[in-house]
Amino acid sequence: MTQDPDCIFCKIASGAIPAENVFEDDACLAFLDIGPLAEGHTLLISKDHYETVADMPPDAAAALLKNLPALVRAIKSATGCDGVNVLQNNGRAASQVVPHVHVHIIPRKVGDLFHYNWPAGTYAKGRMAQVAKEIRKNLP
Ligand code: AMP
Ligand code: ZN
Repeated sequence: MTQDPDCIFCKIASGAIPAENVFEDDACLAFLDIGPLAEGHTLLISKDHYETVADMPPDAAAALLKNLPALVRAIKSATGCDGVNVLQNNGRAASQVVPHVHVHIIPRKVGDLFHYNWPAGTYAKGRMAQVAKEIRKNLP
């Protein structure tokens, strides 16, 4: 395991700091978020230390995300929620506070108080194609 001795989620992964675990396999751990947006708010982490998704090899990302469907189903059944948000923050600008990859699984109820400020924009003519081209150019 690649661990960072100063990382709180590495300490949870190694058992040095307790957490309310709900799932574990060789590569991943899921535990309840200590500051939940709703009861059952769960964090799915890789046991290896990667700061962001961009730092993960594809196999590590696959090993993490393969557990998502079963966890979402279990959280839905356990909480009786109406929906689930899956959120994953990368970098400070994206509100990442703990620099160890983690996926938020957040149970939602119709009419609950968790709202996105999602100021959807528009593209100027031709800009959308330019941006897509730039992304395609940067893929391996
Ligand atoms: P993020 O802003 O995506 O980095 O979210 C970090 C999340 O980690 C927050 O929702 C915190 O409540 C949660 N968190 C921080 N420390 C702990 C801990 N010791 N146990 C469980 N959850 C934690
Ligand atoms: Zn870590």
